[in-house]
Amino acid sequence: MTTSTETPTLATTTTDLEPLRDSLHGPVIGPDGESYDAARAIWNGAIDRRPACVARCTGIADVVAAVRFARERDLLVAVRSGGHGVGGQALCDGGLVIDLSPMKGIRVDPAARTARAEAGVLWGELDRETQLHGLATVGGIVTHTGIAGLTLGGGIGWLMRKHGATVDNLLSVDLVTAEGELLTANEDENPDLFWGIRGGGGNFGVVTSFEYRLHPVGPIVLAGPIFHPLEDAREVLAFYREFIATVPDELTTIFNLRVAPPLPFLPEDVHGKPIVMVGACYAGAPEDGIEVVRPLKGFGNPIVDLLEPKLYTALQSMFDPSAQHGWHYYWKSVELPPLTDDAIDTLVEHASALTSPKSYCIVFQLGGALARVGEGETAYSQRDAAHNVNINAVWTADDVERERHVAWARDFFAAMQPHAGGRVYLNFLGDEGADRVRQAYGDRQYERLVEVKRTYDPTNFFRLNQNIEP
Ligand SMILES: Cc1cc2nc3c(=O)[nH]c(=O)nc-3n(C[C@H](O)[C@H](O)[C@H](O)COP(=O)(O)OP(=O)(O)OC[C@H]3O[C@@H](n4cnc5c(N)ncnc54)[C@H](O)[C@@H]3O)c2cc1C
Repeated sequence: MTTSTETPTLATTTTDLEPLRDSLHGPVIGPDGESYDAARAIWNGAIDRRPACVARCTGIADVVAAVRFARERDLLVAVRSGGHGVGGQALCDGGLVIDLSPMKGIRVDPAARTARAEAGVLWGELDRETQLHGLATVGGIVTHTGIAGLTLGGGIGWLMRKHGATVDNLLSVDLVTAEGELLTANEDENPDLFWGIRGGGGNFGVVTSFEYRLHPVGPIVLAGPIFHPLEDAREVLAFYREFIATVPDELTTIFNLRVAPPLPFLPEDVHGKPIVMVGACYAGAPEDGIEVVRPLKGFGNPIVDLLEPKLYTALQSMFDPSAQHGWHYYWKSVELPPLTDDAIDTLVEHASALTSPKSYCIVFQLGGALARVGEGETAYSQRDAAHNVNINAVWTADDVERERHVAWARDFFAAMQPHAGGRVYLNFLGDEGADRVRQAYGDRQYERLVEVKRTYDPTNFFRLNQNIEP
């Protein structure tokens, strides 16, 4: 059997898998296994790949055994943790998937304000444990995203303008190299690797656990969305641009252009209507945030205003219903400088033309602590961007108009180019090729990543990722 990458793959007979099964504590699932289809399902239902087997690792020893097994046979390897990578690099056709999703260990040290979490942990699971102590680190905005892929690509979310990117709160990782050796990387041990890990994606090895710095957060935060009709979006966003120019780092905002989903907290007559949602989170005492958000709450004629004190964990799960497992997704993303009138016009025009009620365009406000980390301090680069724009075409398996939805995202992306600087955030990239990966870093940082890759993975054993070619 051969694959498109011309890497020898594994025959899928029981005998071929037997040595792997013998050396793993977790199950090794081949195409004849009952749970094979579940094991090869990831968040994006549009991805349909058939690996020779999925090695479900329960600990570091399993990961080492799986890497060595693949190395000895020169197999194509994919690494899967939360399974949310939109391009589906967590799966492969014909090779071995090293699946860390069973690795769920979390230990919080409330006195030291640190947490160690294994690679299969999802953001909702980590928040649940840290919030027990009124603590959190900077995570993503959907609870079922994996900590692993998100951290390795940089990590942005509601706390970032106060506390930096997820990688700025990363203290140490344990990692299995392409040779099957276990390493620790932090400021003191293997610092070149630690630099590359903080934004370089899955290029350097399989990370088995992450240690994070935590901050006092919640459990109650002043946060939530305000919904306006899309017909008011130009005025709302022009106001928003002036508003965010002066807000303190405690406030992070995100806006979203879409049709209102049928969520219980929205009045029924709004469901299905085009809206602009401006969401905010104040990462400080709620009473201190009231004056800060007052202008935002007072502007225009909102349909619904849910920017109010709530549990941090409730904020974190707010977008979960809009990003369900198994729906089909196609993303295009750009980074923007501060919004101009023309950029606002383009955003509103293309959002008004979306082809699926599930599609949307989400825009993150960057800056603050995230932007104060110098270029070159971590592999996560280009921190002076003002906004990340993620254009999400979303549809269901039975929708026959895939091409139309994808074309909407592509046209929207093309129209944003005159407003963008040819940059992209790594974690919002699909499977878009080498030039786009370079755009996530810029030439200088990319060349430095190549050096780290040459040191730790010179044969490009780990290449199903946003690949840095050695
Ligand atoms: C619904 C949704 C919401 C999102 N929200 C945010 C957000 O708020 N902020 C943000 O920054 N990003 C966000 N993202 C993007 C997210 O960070 C990336 O999709 C990320 O890759 C997901 O990580 P994962 O572990 O779930 O995915 P996976 O698909 O399992 O992994 C993605 C890739 O990361 C690498 N990888 C994964 N695990 C390991 C490991 N243990 N060791 C080495 N390499 C590994 C592999 O190359 C793999 O192909 C979101 C994505 C989705 C789908």
